[in-house]
Amino acid sequence: MNRLVFSWPNGKVGALTTSWDDGTIHDRRLIAIFNRHGIKGTFNINSGVLINRAKKTVRYNYVSAKEVARLFKGHEVAVHTATHPFLWRSPDSMIFSEVVEDRRVLESLAGYPILGMALPYGGPDDERVKKVLKAAGILYCRPVAKNENFELPADFMYWPVTCHQSGDFVSLWEKFLKSPNQEKLFYLWGHSYEFPRDNNWERMEEFGKLTGKRKEIWYATNMQIYNYVTAWRSLSCSVEMNCLENRSGVEVWFRLEGELKRIVPGQIVKL
Ligand SMILES: [Zn+2]
Repeated sequence: MNRLVFSWPNGKVGALTTSWDDGTIHDRRLIAIFNRHGIKGTFNINSGVLINRAKKTVRYNYVSAKEVARLFKGHEVAVHTATHPFLWRSPDSMIFSEVVEDRRVLESLAGYPILGMALPYGGPDDERVKKVLKAAGILYCRPVAKNENFELPADFMYWPVTCHQSGDFVSLWEKFLKSPNQEKLFYLWGHSYEFPRDNNWERMEEFGKLTGKRKEIWYATNMQIYNYVTAWRSLSCSVEMNCLENRSGVEVWFRLEGELKRIVPGQIVKL
């Protein structure tokens, strides 16, 4: 049994994060639902062709550049490449440009460094692609792969979700609440245009009522999860395991022989 055990911030027993692709105008209604229920979203946007390009179909009606900062405030804007190509079939130099160009435009709109990403069309766990994404500054990347469990990824550059919004999130959430896993994370993804397309916005109201505003759950964007877990993983523990140093910029919580403790950035604590 480990003396030192992971905890989510403030001793919360689980975390919930969500991820939404393509940046259509339906993100507006989704965010309104999430804000009512205290749920956070990461919104993966194609800057090149999508922003400001309103087409006549519901599917292709995108948010405008000028609303990005206000609409996604309190949530996260992330990369989905400039033009939504199949990355694993593209040359390295094109992958690099697609990501950096998307970052450049989105950062100028959102006002902060944008280092998170969702792969367009999902895609395989491809070492070549990941190498280029890292070179372009990306810290985590979400495919469409789902694992229907609540594990944190060993490799954030290929971070599978728990389930798609069309999946059976009710029974998965029940399993999640019962899971004794200290690091448990529930990770939902989808596209907001799926709700008007399938005429089932009530699904997200249901999701909000089911999962939102619970004291024991941490509601975080993808990047907040990445930051926290990476800070935990990079804590420096002495060889004799009697002291711990936090070299990161993130306050980290943990349990020592069952007792909840925290270590602030720069601090060394005796164990
Ligand atoms: Zn997409």
